Amino acid sequence: MCSGVSCSEALTGMGAMGGLRWLRRIPYMVKLQTEFLRWLAGVASCSDQALYLEFAVTPLHVLWSELVFKWWNSLVGAKGSLFHDVFRADLRLALDGKECWSAIVLRILACLGYDGCDRAPGEDRVTALSQHRLPVDALVDTVKQRFSEDWRSERLTVEPRSFVSDGRSPGVKMCRAQHWMGPAKYLSTYIPLQQRVCLSRFRLGCWPLECNRPNGRSRSDRVCPLCLDGEEDERHVLLECAFYAVARSQLALPAEPEMKGVMGMDNQPYGSQTGGNPGG
Ligand SMILES: [Zn+2]
Repeated sequence: MCSGVSCSEALTGMGAMGGLRWLRRIPYMVKLQTEFLRWLAGVASCSDQALYLEFAVTPLHVLWSELVFKWWNSLVGAKGSLFHDVFRADLRLALDGKECWSAIVLRILACLGYDGCDRAPGEDRVTALSQHRLPVDALVDTVKQRFSEDWRSERLTVEPRSFVSDGRSPGVKMCRAQHWMGPAKYLSTYIPLQQRVCLSRFRLGCWPLECNRPNGRSRSDRVCPLCLDGEEDERHVLLECAFYAVARSQLALPAEPEMKGVMGMDNQPYGSQTGGNPGG
């Protein structure tokens, strides 16, 4: 008799892809991943959503979902083999409400709104599902679409200074990264580690600025301690604060610089023009 664990492990241990054991360890892997990203960005307090957006792991999620759909189809195509028999047993468990690989895939398909699977009852449904080839390209397109819909949330296009938190994530820090700064440029170019960490901390709202240290004050009370003129946030430091006027004058900024335009400039220090080490 085949238990939920043994069937899934049988699936896990077989096949060219191998290693499906990770499906049962997703919470642990997500924790590892976020800890790694926090280390990479040099931040401690920042929402997971902002971290994921900053480091754009969407392509990884898309790749993984494509591999899962293709693996399903390879099991469907393996009719007559032990692989297919185990697949059927796993489907049977899933339809019986047990936690297993097929149950996870069926939940993913339901989340994506895919309704192509047969609804026949009992063993007939096991047979129908085990013979059902998934439209991989269409499903992957839906996954991509869902990710971009999420990141295009209107909440993120609000002007950060007028953003009022309603207690829901992703919050003002993500709003800053998305609306003020645009996508991270340093992911496609070379920037030395120290500068890159400094920049990612800036982008993720983790610099020790007054706006990032509420201490019970309203935002309008988080005044810049250097010029005493206006709220000290990322835009103030980069474009407004008189204290940094000399440093700013040494940058080749446009006449009327905008936050996103400046953050997206190609001539960031040690950027793609040289690709070299500033000390070298
Ligand atoms: Zn200032």
